[in-house]
Amino acid sequence: MAQSRGPFMSRSSAALFAPPRTDLDDLSLTTRLSGKVSRFLARNIRTKTLAMRNAQPMVTFTFDDVPATACHVGALIIEQYGARGTYYVSGGGCGAPSPCGPLATIDLLRVLAARGHEIGCHTYSHTAVASIGARELATDTERNHSFLKSVSDRTAVRNFAYPYGDLSFRTKRYLERRFDSCRSLLPGINRGTIDLGALKTWALENASISRRRILGLVAETATSSNWLVFNSHDVQDEPSRFGVSQDLLAFAASAAKDAGCRPVTIAEGLRLAAGDKTNDSD
Ligand SMILES: [Zn+2]
Repeated sequence: MAQSRGPFMSRSSAALFAPPRTDLDDLSLTTRLSGKVSRFLARNIRTKTLAMRNAQPMVTFTFDDVPATACHVGALIIEQYGARGTYYVSGGGCGAPSPCGPLATIDLLRVLAARGHEIGCHTYSHTAVASIGARELATDTERNHSFLKSVSDRTAVRNFAYPYGDLSFRTKRYLERRFDSCRSLLPGINRGTIDLGALKTWALENASISRRRILGLVAETATSSNWLVFNSHDVQDEPSRFGVSQDLLAFAASAAKDAGCRPVTIAEGLRLAAGDKTNDSD
């Protein structure tokens, strides 16, 4: 099933934050074909594998970009269910308007980190990684990583999410070495031997998911020690196309808890998946 790819795919929204992407229509046939092959390889060849050894099924709530509402509304909701989220931030957008509402300021991110949520890394400029060269990707990623380290000197920024879910084989190989994990937008539940270069996820958006589907996903996750990673953007009564309402977010958190899924950040999930049983009694 296809998933949406994030708010900045929209041409009309590109002026708000994030530069427009290179338009595939403008590229030569050879370039387009090689790009397609590279994306196919990136999605289908597992390059950084981990055989999951966690004792319990797990659920993670991730938020991309990130809108202020995901921090001061979304965080409080998932905290009520004992969860902390992973927030993939583009430093260049902090405090800027976006199609999902104003993006979080650095001060709001500091509050979030102090409450135990994880700050993850997007690109600084929200550029799609496959659209830029190796040097530019390294510079942009490093700039974002340095910026985000200033949010909290207590927590490391170890996990990445591909803007727009766009990845190529080259960029995947680079980023999976640079970070502990990279979250894609490939739909699915992480199970068995997982690819840390392209963690699977499911969009938690009112526009694309039903309560019935959420119940099905958490039930499937709980059949074994699987890992369900939700992704969303804003959290508000009338969410954007890429956001979730308070009610639906609370429903998902409650359903996951009722199904026996342990709420974890991406960093915690990786630790447990690697077999670390420290503080693993609850
Ligand atoms: Zn994004």
